[in-house]
Amino acid sequence: MSNVDTAGHGGYRRNVRAARSRPDDARRAARAEPAIADVIRRLRRTRGAWNPTALAVVADESGDPFRVLIACILSLRTQDTTTGPAAARLFALTDTPAAMLSLTARQIARAIYPVGFYRTKARVILGICRDLLARFGGRVPDDIDALLTLGGVGRKTANLVVTVGYGKPGICVDTHVHRISNRLGYVRTRTPEETEMALRGKLPRRYWIGYNDLLVSFGQNICTPLSPRCSTCPVQTLCRRVGVTSSR
Ligand code: SF4
Repeated sequence: MSNVDTAGHGGYRRNVRAARSRPDDARRAARAEPAIADVIRRLRRTRGAWNPTALAVVADESGDPFRVLIACILSLRTQDTTTGPAAARLFALTDTPAAMLSLTARQIARAIYPVGFYRTKARVILGICRDLLARFGGRVPDDIDALLTLGGVGRKTANLVVTVGYGKPGICVDTHVHRISNRLGYVRTRTPEETEMALRGKLPRRYWIGYNDLLVSFGQNICTPLSPRCSTCPVQTLCRRVGVTSSR
C-alpha cells in the first residue's frame, strides 16, 4: 500500500482545513512578536518631532557620568519638565562629588525642589558623593555591579549611567520601556526587572544603548500611560496593543 492519506475523507478534510489555516497562523505568528528592527527604525524616523528627554539633554550637554547619575536620581518619580530645570539649578551650584559635599542637604533640597522626595534625594546625593570619594577616587564607576553598591542607585539608574554616561552596553528599563515593550508584544513581563532580563535575552545588542531614550520619548509623546495615541502611532501596524483598553 502506498503511503497516501489513510485517514479517509474526514482526514482529507482536516488536512485541507489545516492547510487553509496556515496563512492565518503565519499572520498571527508574525503579529505575535513585532520585528523590533522595524519598530526601532520607524520610531527613529519619527522622533525628530518629539521633545528630547531631560536625561538626554543632560548627557548631550555635558557628557559627564556624574551629572547623568545625579540627574537620574532627580528624575525618579518626577516629570521631565521638573527634572530638567532642577538639574540645571543644582549643576549651576556645583557638579563634582567633592564640591557637592560643600553644600548642605538643605541647600541641595532647595535647589532641586520641587522634584519628588526632594529632601530624601538631597541626602541620597550627599551619600553618593561621600561614597564616590571614599571608594571610587571621586569617579563614577562604569560598571553596573559597582554602581549598585551606591546608596539609592537601582538597576534603572545604574544602566542609565553605563549606557548614556559611558556609552557601554546596558538596558535601562523604566516605566515607559516596561509598558511599551509589553504593549508591543515584544516581551511578556510583570516588572521592569523582568523586562530588563527579557530584553537582555532577545534585544539585539546594537539597540541596547538607545532603547531607553527612544522609548521614553515615545512614551511621553505617543504611547502614553493612559489612552495612548494609537491612531497616529508610527508602529500601529506592528503593535499587538497588549492590555490597551482605550486609546485615542
Ligand atoms: S499602537 Fe498604541 S499601544 Fe501600540 S505602540 Fe502605538 S501607541 Fe502604543
